[in-house]
Amino acid sequence: FLPFGLIISFIFVSFVRSWQQRKMSLKDELRKGMLNNEFAVHYQPVYDTVRERCGGAEALLRWNRAGGRSISPDVFITAAESEGLIIPLTLHLFQLLAADVRHWQVPDDFHLGINIAAEHIQHPDFADDIRRLAAQLSPHHVKITLELTERSLISNTSDVMLKLTQLRKEGFLIAIDDFGTGHCSLSYLQTFPLDYLKIDKGFVGTIESAANDTPILDTIISLSKRLKLAMVAEGVSSAEEYQYLKHCGVEYMQGYLYARPMASRQFVYWLQERGE
Ligand code: C2E
Ligand code: CA
Ligand code: CA
Ligand code: CA
Repeated sequence: FLPFGLIISFIFVSFVRSWQQRKMSLKDELRKGMLNNEFAVHYQPVYDTVRERCGGAEALLRWNRAGGRSISPDVFITAAESEGLIIPLTLHLFQLLAADVRHWQVPDDFHLGINIAAEHIQHPDFADDIRRLAAQLSPHHVKITLELTERSLISNTSDVMLKLTQLRKEGFLIAIDDFGTGHCSLSYLQTFPLDYLKIDKGFVGTIESAANDTPILDTIISLSKRLKLAMVAEGVSSAEEYQYLKHCGVEYMQGYLYARPMASRQFVYWLQERGE
C-alpha cells in the first residue's frame, strides 16, 4: 500500500508543479510581452444609427507573441486578471492608445470605449489614471467611455459609486458591458451613474436563430429605454440583425457588418475613405 500511495502523491505533486510552472510562465510571458512591445491595440468602429455616421470605436488589445502563435484576449485578459497584472497591462494599453491617437482625425463627439477591469476601479489611483489618459487624448478630440462589466459594479459598491459619479461629472461616459451575462442585480442599474448599456452579442445572435422570438433581447431593450440608457448592440453581423435592432430603437451598432476591429493605421484610412 505504502509505495502505491507514494507513487500517487508523487504523480500528484509533479502534476501540480508543472501546472504552477506553466501558470508562472504565462505571467512572465505577459511581463516580457509588455517590455518587448508585443501588444497592439485594434479599434472597432461603432456606428451611430441616428446620425448615420461613425460615433466612436472600441479599443481591443491584441497580443502578437514572439513565436507567432496568437492568443485570444479572452484568454490573456483572464490570465492577467488572475495573475495580478491587469492594472499594469491596462496602463500599458493607455500608452499605446496615446501613441496611436496622435495620428487620428476623428469626427465630432467621437468616443473611444476602453475596457476596464473590476480590480482597477477599486485601486486608489484609478480616477487619476483615467484623467491622465484623457489629458493625452483630448487634444485629439477623442473622448473616453469606460466599459465596465457588471462584476465591477458589485464589488465595494459605495467606493466605486463615488468614483464613477465624480468621473461622470468630469465628462466621462460609462457603459455596462456584456449586459445580461453577469450576475448583476437589477437594482444596480438604478443606483449607478450610467450612460450606455452594451447588449451582448449572444443576445443579438438570437435574432437570426430564434425565428421572431427574442424575449430576453426585447426585455433588455425595453429595460434600457425605461432607464433612459442609450444602447450599443454588439456583434451585429447581418442586415437582418441590424434592421431588427434599428426598428427597436437601438442607437449604436458594433459588429462585423459595419467594420471589424483593425490596427490604428488601417483605422485612419478607414475613416478617411468614408470621409469621416
Ligand atoms: P468585449 O468587450 O465584449 O469586446 C467585443 C468582442 O466582440 C471583441 O472580441 C470583438 O472583436 C468581438 N466582435 C466584434 N464584432 C463582432 C461580430 O460581429 N461577431 C463576433 N462573433 N464577434 C465580434 P475580442 O477582441 O476577442 O475581445 C474579447 C474580450 O476581451 C472583450 O470582450 C473584452 O472583454 C476583453 N478585452 C479585450 N481587450 C481588452 C482590454 O484592453 N482590457 C480589458 N480589460 N479587456 C479586454
Ligand atoms: Ca467591451
Ligand atoms: Ca461586450
Ligand atoms: Ca465579451
